[in-house]
Amino acid sequence: MKLIIKDLHANVGDVEIIKGLDLQINTGEMHAIMGPNGTGKSTLAQIIMGNPQYEVTSGSITLNDEDLLSMSVDERSRKGIFLAMQYPNEISGITNADFIKSAMEVRLGKDEHISLFKFFREMDGAVKDLKMNANLPHRYVNEGFSGGEKKRNEILQMKLLKPNFAILDEIDSGLDIDALKIVGENVNNMRGPEFAALVITHYQRLLDYIDVDFVHIMIDGRIARSGGKELITKIDNEGYDWLKEELKIEEEVPTRRNIALGTCGIKEAK
Ligand code: ADP
Ligand code: MG
Repeated sequence: MKLIIKDLHANVGDVEIIKGLDLQINTGEMHAIMGPNGTGKSTLAQIIMGNPQYEVTSGSITLNDEDLLSMSVDERSRKGIFLAMQYPNEISGITNADFIKSAMEVRLGKDEHISLFKFFREMDGAVKDLKMNANLPHRYVNEGFSGGEKKRNEILQMKLLKPNFAILDEIDSGLDIDALKIVGENVNNMRGPEFAALVITHYQRLLDYIDVDFVHIMIDGRIARSGGKELITKIDNEGYDWLKEELKIEEEVPTRRNIALGTCGIKEAK
């Protein structure tokens, strides 16, 4: 399967946040998006999943040549897209187990169900893999969970739902070093021909545990640079300033040319 984003522009209110973003993700690949705060990483994740707060003004997102942007959130989910949120919601009155089981069952045919035995065997296995507290499946979704437990809970859902495209938005924030390792390894174990991940992260540490094939740096609503793992080390050592500098230079080239075409007389007169 392939997810293709072409020249995407999107607004929040009147403000343009995504400013011409291109990205292609195929199943079988692991991608990371890194970038400074406020560059639109979460906005991109929300748009792929279909949050109506964000208005796509131009460009396209397709999933196997189908228009993703015209699909409901529910349809996107059933097509295999999954978002682990930066700030997971609490859902009072619904247990974690019921929540995940219903989400699994809507992926089956009408009137098909998962046997409770099979479900709990799988859920208990995933809970153990993530070294989560055994009572978490029976508590209300995220209610009273610590920050780290909420993040693990997103990964628990991913393990059980087995999406084709998982977008993980700063799944590492709020995790201590042990939890980071557990979460990272569990994500890495999902690797396979039918799975792709888009791992959004602010720091390189999570990527010590997730073997990514592509690294993209997002700055100011665009993918400013794509490469391999060498970019992680570079960002770790040097931050993002070098790229901002480079981009300024690149941005100035057309501006200079415009000035040269239109106003060389003025420049000479100075
Ligand atoms: P990142 O995840 O890269 O830190 P975000 O996508 O969260 O960045 O935010 C990008 C910009 O869009 C920020 O300036 C943020 O304040 C703004 N923004 C994002 N979502 C909203 C929203 N729902 N309402 C208002 N502004 C928003
Ligand atoms: Mg964010």
